[in-house]
Amino acid sequence: MLVQAFAVSSRADYPEPPVEVPPPSAKALQFYRTGHAYWAFGQVWALGLPAMILAGGISRKMREFAWRKGQSWYPAFAIYVGIYLLFTFMVSLPMAFQRGYLRLHEYGLSTESFAKWLGDAIKNLGVDYVGTLCFGWVPFLLIKRSPRWWWLITAGLYIPFLFFVMLIKPVVVDPLFNEFGPMKDQVLEAKILALAARSGIEGGRVFEVDKSTETTAVNAYVTGIGATKRIVLWDTLIAKLDDRELLFVMAHEMGHYVLGHVTRSILLSSILILVGLAAIQFGGRWVLSRFGPRLQIADLSDFAALPLILLLFQCSYVVLSPIGLAYSRWQEHESDRFALELTQDNHAGALGFLKLQTQNLGNPRPDAWYVFLRSTHPPGGERVDFCNTYRPWEHGLLLRYATQFK
Ligand SMILES: [Zn+2]
Repeated sequence: MLVQAFAVSSRADYPEPPVEVPPPSAKALQFYRTGHAYWAFGQVWALGLPAMILAGGISRKMREFAWRKGQSWYPAFAIYVGIYLLFTFMVSLPMAFQRGYLRLHEYGLSTESFAKWLGDAIKNLGVDYVGTLCFGWVPFLLIKRSPRWWWLITAGLYIPFLFFVMLIKPVVVDPLFNEFGPMKDQVLEAKILALAARSGIEGGRVFEVDKSTETTAVNAYVTGIGATKRIVLWDTLIAKLDDRELLFVMAHEMGHYVLGHVTRSILLSSILILVGLAAIQFGGRWVLSRFGPRLQIADLSDFAALPLILLLFQCSYVVLSPIGLAYSRWQEHESDRFALELTQDNHAGALGFLKLQTQNLGNPRPDAWYVFLRSTHPPGGERVDFCNTYRPWEHGLLLRYATQFK
């Protein structure tokens, strides 16, 4: 009883000092710097590979083979897409292996066996193939039926499609890669559910994922809609953080959910998709009017135009991604605010972020260009600073999200 009383009063009686952000370790700094070259190569590769497949006549040859074997449109499309995905998978494999396996092992960020890494890569390929067989034919059909307006119709279909993906992904796709079990620590689970109830999330289930077999990185999220709503924690997160830090991170994830960040992100991405599709429509027609005869591709409804479509889409992605990233960083910041207001546990938040930062070999104060071009989250240092200083409740000020709390 005494112990309990002390535990309850300690935070107010002995205010905890601000958490200092140490400079990154030499290893973290090296990971950050060598990462630039990998990133730049990845950007060039994402544009160069489809350009090469298109200009080198590979796409045209794949189409001829696919028609010979398939005879009619859909079987030919299925064969073409299968060859295309397999070809790009194979030529990208050495780089993916270097970047996603060797490098992470070298820095102690991965615990994954080679078999699991390769198995997951192949499963991803399978998911891409099945997804394209189920839905990828739709834009081509629309281009044929409505050559002028297909891109607007496709953008309109994209929103319900993404909601559908959101609904089924947690129950259909995610379990292909990892085991989603109940939480082992039931006391902690009860605390998480109590926090969820306070933040206005009712009826969610908590799942623990066995990620420690594959990575040392940590993560948690709240996902799904309706019947597939769930709170997910990687077992690595549970191992690394103490209860207070973990609850703070969960409050942050609940913030995303309660503040409707997923829905807003879908709406924003559908605007960006619309711009991308317009780039395909107008850029694609321009390219084909100039080079179509040489490429032996008459119009965009020919599935041999797929690398051109992907190339133009990637171009618009490169131009637009800073907008999406800035919006994402803003959402992350607001979720941090939500977590601070809900838990009022600044110290645990700051310590938790510092641990995650160190664990993932992050650079707490990266260059401005890095943040602009690459960061989905505010720099770790800024997040710790915010945790150290944001205490409106101590000054009698209104909380921005007080109305959300139950
Ligand atoms: Zn977040």
